Amino acid sequence: MMTYRSKRYITYLIITFCVVLLPFIQINGNQLFLLSFDRKEFHLLGAVFNIQELFVLPFLLILLFVGVFFATNLLGRVWCGWGCPQTIFRVIYRDLIEGKIFGLTQISNKQKAPDLSTPINKLKKLCSIVLISLCTFSASAVLLFYFVPPYDFFSYLSHPKDHLVLLGFWLSIGTFFTLDITLLKENFCIYVCPYSRVQSVLYDNDTQTVIYDQRRGGAIYQDNGEKFHQSLRLRDPQGECIECQKCVKVCPTHIDIRAGMQLECINCLECVDACSKVMGERSLPTLVNWSSNNALQTHSKVRYIRPKTIGYMLILALSIILATFMGSKKDDVLLNITRPTSLYTIHKNGKVSNEYVLFIENATPKDQNFSLSVLQNQDIKILRPEGEFSINAKEKKRVILVLEYDKKLEVKDHDKSIPFTLKLYSTQDPNLSIQKESVFIYPHKH
Ligand code: SF4
Ligand code: SF4
Repeated sequence: MMTYRSKRYITYLIITFCVVLLPFIQINGNQLFLLSFDRKEFHLLGAVFNIQELFVLPFLLILLFVGVFFATNLLGRVWCGWGCPQTIFRVIYRDLIEGKIFGLTQISNKQKAPDLSTPINKLKKLCSIVLISLCTFSASAVLLFYFVPPYDFFSYLSHPKDHLVLLGFWLSIGTFFTLDITLLKENFCIYVCPYSRVQSVLYDNDTQTVIYDQRRGGAIYQDNGEKFHQSLRLRDPQGECIECQKCVKVCPTHIDIRAGMQLECINCLECVDACSKVMGERSLPTLVNWSSNNALQTHSKVRYIRPKTIGYMLILALSIILATFMGSKKDDVLLNITRPTSLYTIHKNGKVSNEYVLFIENATPKDQNFSLSVLQNQDIKILRPEGEFSINAKEKKRVILVLEYDKKLEVKDHDKSIPFTLKLYSTQDPNLSIQKESVFIYPHKH
């Protein structure tokens, strides 16, 4: 049967392939996911959201948090062992580069530090750091592709002096990744990452996690957490654990899972593979399982469908429906009306005009001709712009709007405001229009 390690490696390859490929996939010229501070745009599944339309972001954050809670309640720290970049890069560095390529470490014994007493091993260590640096700086670039499109990223970096901020981010993130993977190691998971602190709150007795079967294997630790000094065979002749320590040596966070669930455990399942091999040679099932407390006690399967997981699934489904609904309501044309400081102009003929600045964005993939009309008030005429004006696909335009009130001045104590609705519409596509409300100001009689 395929080991969990092999399954994890395949998962890592699929995740890496998807994460690297995703920024290069475009729909209608837009990325599947991009949060561009430069363009003030958010791309999701090919749709573009202007910075004013980020109403979809809260739903995505709810999805993210509820998704993490749901996954943890269902499968424990499955993210840490199977999807976290920290774990993936540690496997690449420790097990592939240092272990397989340079023979400095052993995958089956992660407790043993590399022997750096000889010059050749020091050179191998240096080469390992160079190789992992290539990976971490590439990863830093891939991370930035989700904020700066890859084509822009490479063109910006060809003129580094003009893009020092981007260069600084790329180098800082790459350096941090390198130091984290080579120096901080699993201490990041234990002492820095906040996720390990909250995991226990999200667990219940049906959560699938790494558990030592004490009833079969025998107690290794006392209730106070201290290891029994007496040998297992003496205190529990029936205990199946042979104290080979293979599950302990293989553990990347240097814990003994036989002491029970610990926050250091990243759910990598290396200990399960190790014990499966040892027990398999004796034709016995593994003593370290990926199961739940209830399943182990009752010798049954893990209960995935239960009230809590159903609740999480309902919240997730609701968030997806709301995010899709809000996303589909997004406008293809955006209009903002602002007023300059002068309130109005009184002309010699007694008419009054108001000036406005319009910010219009054509978010469609086609060039459009637009026109304006005033609704609600027949007496307000458009003096400027005259006729149609065009805006190229995905471009914004600033347009000066001048309105005139075609009515005799009235006697009033204060400046009076007349509400009106401005309609912007495409002369090519009748479905493409937007309406915004504003006010026309005219003076009281002097
Ligand atoms: S106890 Fe160690 S080896 Fe086992 S799953 Fe946890 S981190 Fe991995
Ligand atoms: S690998 Fe299995 S048999 Fe060996 S010490 Fe761990 S639990 Fe016991």
